[in-house]
Amino acid sequence: MASLSDLPIRDDLRGLKPYGAPQEHVRIRLNVNENTHPIPEAVATDIVMAVAEAVLSVNRYPDREFTVLRDSLAGYLGSGITRENIWAANGSNEVLQQILQAFGGPGRSVLGFPPTYSMHSIIAAGTGTAWVAGERDENFEISPETAVAWIEKTRPDLVFFCSPNNPTGTPLSLETIVAAYDATDGIVVVDEAYAEFAPSDLPTALSLLEGRERLIVSRTMSKAFAFAGARLGYLAADPAIADALRLVRLPYHLSALTQAAATAALAHSAEMLAMVDDIKAQRDRILEELPKLGFPAWPSWSNFVLFGGVAEPHAVFEALLEQDIIIRDLGIPNHLRVTAGTVAETTAFLEAMAGLGPMARIGA
Ligand SMILES: *Cc1c(COP(=O)(O)O)cnc(C)c1O
Repeated sequence: MASLSDLPIRDDLRGLKPYGAPQEHVRIRLNVNENTHPIPEAVATDIVMAVAEAVLSVNRYPDREFTVLRDSLAGYLGSGITRENIWAANGSNEVLQQILQAFGGPGRSVLGFPPTYSMHSIIAAGTGTAWVAGERDENFEISPETAVAWIEKTRPDLVFFCSPNNPTGTPLSLETIVAAYDATDGIVVVDEAYAEFAPSDLPTALSLLEGRERLIVSRTMSKAFAFAGARLGYLAADPAIADALRLVRLPYHLSALTQAAATAALAHSAEMLAMVDDIKAQRDRILEELPKLGFPAWPSWSNFVLFGGVAEPHAVFEALLEQDIIIRDLGIPNHLRVTAGTVAETTAFLEAMAGLGPMARIGA
């Protein structure tokens, strides 16, 4: 068998590592921020019926413009957003890839602020877009001044923000987004994959779209909507953005089955999102309990918690795995990340952490 280095692969892909969150057969999976609650059975039945009907016409190509789905997504977002403002693809990762295909690419660059979602730099690499790593302030925050300084220093073609940020849980102020937008002629993307887990009475970047044709807010049904396996991500932006993405998307990229399933799920958004409050309560429980065990946790507006104080992250990761619990070791020194699960899953995680023994903690 040949190895990768034997192949005439693009020079800029040589030596790179693929996205690699472990997919292990573990009882309690709290490592990739999925919604661990299964979707309600009545909703599942409706989705199956919709897919069953769609399958009868899979001899034909699907609606290339996924019009019905875009209407449903616009209705879900509200805030005056209409079908024309919406674009979707097979997961928000594909949406981000299309954005970089259209606005990035060879000779262009995207500025991001690590630690952040690992796929942002991986998709940049895949599309030949140079990844420029900015730096955050204290506490993983990004002030308007910091964002502007990095934009002026590096002159990127795109700026990627993530709010709340994965893997830190940190929110991003609307002031920072506006300041960044005003400081660049490029595209500003706010990845709001976890927006539904933020305080529900506060505006998100969606409220900034009006009059800002270079601003893109990306969302996903993978997390709050408990739809990770169905693959549906989307964005809201000026209609011209969708026109740009039509130049790079593959024709018929959203299958008739995906369109039917997602539309049926959106018709039940209240039931699909019913677990969000429960998950937030488990997140808050983790935020409260971990520090008592000697592991300080970072404030989080998402469905996961980044915590520190871990003497040897990989050893703790392995110790939990032995108890059939998987969390995430992101290579941040002395830190690990855990997804808030059901009450039972969260309890099992906290009990396992309590049982680790003092050697697991820094300074113990
Ligand atoms: C999980 C996640 C996504 C979701 O990706 P999909 O392709 O929609 O499943 C996007 N952005 C961030 C920051 C994430 O953590």
